[in-house]
Amino acid sequence: MAKQVQSFNAEIKQLLDIVIHSLYSHKEIFLRELLSNASDAIDKLKFQSLTHPSLLPSDWQPTIRLSPDASTKTLKIIDNGIGMTQEEVVEFIGTIARSGAKAFMQMNAEMKTKPELIGQFGVGFYSAFMVADKVTLHTQKAGSNDGTVWESQGDGTYSLESVPRPEGTGTTITLHLKEFQEEEEVQNFTDAWVLKSLVKKYSDFIAHPIKMKGEKEDETLNSQKALWLKSPSEISKEEYKEFYQHLTHDWNDPLRTVHYKAEGTMEFNALLYLPGKKPWNYNMRDMEYGLSLYIKRVFIMSDCKDLLPSYLRFVKGLVDSSDLSLNVSRELLQQDRQVSQIRKNVTNKVLGTLKDLLSKERTAYEDFWTEFGATLKEGLPSDSSNKEKLQDLILFHSTSSDKMTTLEEYVTRMKETQKDIYYITGDSLSQVHNSPYLEKLKEKGFEVLLLVDPVDEWVVSSLTEFKGKKLQSITREGLDLDTEEEKQKKAEEKKQAEDTLKPVLDSMKKALADDVKDVVLSDRLTQTPACLVSSSQDPSAHMQKLMSQMGKEYSTPVKRILEINPKHPVFSKMLKASEEQQKKWAEILYAQALLTEGSSLPDPVKFSQQVAELMVQAAEGQH
Ligand code: ADP
Repeated sequence: MAKQVQSFNAEIKQLLDIVIHSLYSHKEIFLRELLSNASDAIDKLKFQSLTHPSLLPSDWQPTIRLSPDASTKTLKIIDNGIGMTQEEVVEFIGTIARSGAKAFMQMNAEMKTKPELIGQFGVGFYSAFMVADKVTLHTQKAGSNDGTVWESQGDGTYSLESVPRPEGTGTTITLHLKEFQEEEEVQNFTDAWVLKSLVKKYSDFIAHPIKMKGEKEDETLNSQKALWLKSPSEISKEEYKEFYQHLTHDWNDPLRTVHYKAEGTMEFNALLYLPGKKPWNYNMRDMEYGLSLYIKRVFIMSDCKDLLPSYLRFVKGLVDSSDLSLNVSRELLQQDRQVSQIRKNVTNKVLGTLKDLLSKERTAYEDFWTEFGATLKEGLPSDSSNKEKLQDLILFHSTSSDKMTTLEEYVTRMKETQKDIYYITGDSLSQVHNSPYLEKLKEKGFEVLLLVDPVDEWVVSSLTEFKGKKLQSITREGLDLDTEEEKQKKAEEKKQAEDTLKPVLDSMKKALADDVKDVVLSDRLTQTPACLVSSSQDPSAHMQKLMSQMGKEYSTPVKRILEINPKHPVFSKMLKASEEQQKKWAEILYAQALLTEGSSLPDPVKFSQQVAELMVQAAEGQH
């Protein structure tokens, strides 16, 4: 194929513009990014050769090489990894929009001061343009006899040409280094000493040798030590942190590091990290999660989902097993008994670490909870074997204070006359905080948990009890708040109200027959005239709303019960109204109850007309 010139897509153009013109500090991180790509490429080739041994040349030794040349002002980074086909070059380095490039652009104000963040976005290759005004990439895919030369000056276009790579499989990246002014304090990247110290600083953990020609013979610049195989007492905090950055490209400190060796029925080493902050693509569809898997120090794969339940998908790190067979494939891993034992063990360890954090460092735990609490909660409906542990780890908002609370703490604050643990679900704290369903509980001084994460509905459907106390929704029928004594006292009053208001109840039932199951008196409310409650077996209104947002409507709409507050003056007035008026008022009260619980109105226009009509009538009545 003759040489052809193509344009970068708009996002990559903008990205390059920022990289070239706005990133001033830490330019040296380009080396870390390119070395990490080279190392990944070797890992990929090694993994593929497990099933396709013919991909490896006979005397293949994984090597990354740095080749600086001061006379031409170039630096080459050479690997004998998997290489890329021409299509892959175009896809990975060229034109196809990658979500990371977009996210990087959106963050660019912050990026300008923190160029070291670029690697997180999966666009690390472009950091080469911080130090080079021309980049040439020559690559050849394992198994192919043809190579590709890609070249660009970062100015909006790149060229492509088919040329076999003399060294065969692998990739050579040549950086034509920029001229820097003295005052810019940019290091000389053709200087052996500079390169050596950068490799030590950023890439010492890379598992393959990074070589450079020394005065007499080749020198290996990195120690290649597998950090996770050392004893924790020999590892400094700084080393753990650097390894975390190497693994995740996250420049922030991890919140916690968990490093241990499992012994007994199965043996493995694990080095796990709880990140402090969500990565930019957390919970996005293309987010990968899982631990890296090594078998006897050989890298098998990154993002191995079988090693981590999805509700712990924020955990980063690796597992190195000495028991698994090297001939594993992704499909086989899923069924492997040892793999599921490792997952169980890792899960226990992480939950134990969180428990420890909660009891010893509450503020740090609360920070963790803000980032990842909603994810961890998914474990309750999905992992019944760890229910006991998970229920102790949940934090809830509550009516008692702005601080979040555990269930244990809630129980210690329960009033003597309080039977159950009360909660309400809804869309937002502000909505549930003012909910009329809280009226009577406030009066009694009972604390209510405020559940506003979508996942909470599933949490409470699997967590129905805590230490012998029932979790009771305050938007369900039969909310039993009074003591026997109080009930006896109120019985007479209730009987009387029922007798007097019977005609109102009857006409409301008739008017709302299509909308509600029943209309009953209630003492749940103190100021609000009416509210809707769900039967104990039915899904809550909030659950129905969530399901419908997910495109899952219930086949027959679930009707609820309208509870009315007999002490509210509207009902004694209603007694005297005509049947026609009673019907209208019933409809308005029902609509108000829908709004109160956070539902939308089936016919908002009708409702506003009815209210306007009432206003006119009220005004006329006053004259
Ligand atoms: P990231 O490495 O985070 O995915 P990069 O922009 O650094 O993002 O690289 C994009 C892709 O290009 C890589 O995922 C990889 O598939 C490919 N790539 C980059 N460098 C090499 C290399 N030396 N050998 C083989 N493939 C490479």
